[in-house]
Amino acid sequence: MTSRVLDLTSQTAFPKAGQFFFLTIRKNGKELQKHFSFSSSPTEGGYIEFTKKLTGHEFSNALDELKEGDWARLKGPFGEFTYQGEYEKLGMLVGGIGITAIRSICRLCTDRYPTTNIILLYGNRTEKDIVFKDDLEQMQKHNTNLKMVHSLSTPSEGWLGYTGYIDRKIAEKEIPDYLDRTFYSCGPPSLVEAMKKILEELRVPKSQIITENFPGH
Ligand SMILES: Cc1cc2nc3c(=O)[nH]c(=O)nc-3n(C[C@H](O)[C@H](O)[C@H](O)COP(=O)(O)OP(=O)(O)OC[C@H]3O[C@@H](n4cnc5c(N)ncnc54)[C@H](O)[C@@H]3O)c2cc1C
Repeated sequence: MTSRVLDLTSQTAFPKAGQFFFLTIRKNGKELQKHFSFSSSPTEGGYIEFTKKLTGHEFSNALDELKEGDWARLKGPFGEFTYQGEYEKLGMLVGGIGITAIRSICRLCTDRYPTTNIILLYGNRTEKDIVFKDDLEQMQKHNTNLKMVHSLSTPSEGWLGYTGYIDRKIAEKEIPDYLDRTFYSCGPPSLVEAMKKILEELRVPKSQIITENFPGH
């Protein structure tokens, strides 16, 4: 998968980890607008960024063609999909580009809340679709309370991790203390629905589940 990171440092109010904004750009005299989560953390020295999955569709292409100095409007930050040290143990159930908001929270915890225990289950199609793979692996080296588990629906030969979608079996095995955790699930609506269903089956109270849907992929 191709994705591109843009630096928005001077253009928006400072967000909480996990929040999103509206981005408007112009193409052929027409305004195009989409939501994006911040992939950066408030701890990253005033640096603000988002990460867009390049889909080859209209908005994606227009964004990819932007040059420094081109017009864009940002409105935000918005959203309740945030973490500010409220919970001691987190479970992250994530699909594809949904990792952006989660990466923001993981970075925040690594820098500011290193005792927050995080188990991140991350589903993708193939190994090359894993966004922030190196970045998250680097974070793990500094944060022993961050555990990351991958599941790939169509892995290449030799893949030693889980195969298929994240399911109840994987969740129970990798997150045995699931009742003690607050869950953040982010990604395509179908993934978020599937994760909510698993948590419902496991009798995790709704008050311990926070979700963000990324439609349009
Ligand atoms: C709160 C929130 C946070 C989000 N955060 C992120 C984020 O961090 N990163 C990110 O990448 N996305 C994020 N999204 C999704 C993002 O807003 C876009 O919807 C998404 O990236 C799709 O962008 P696009 O460029 O493909 O859009 P578009 O060009 O509008 O395409 C959207 C969809 O329309 C269809 N489509 C469009 N043109 C064609 C065509 N010519 N032929 C066939 N089908 C077509 C396709 O199904 C395509 O996937 C977020 C969404 C929400 C609601």
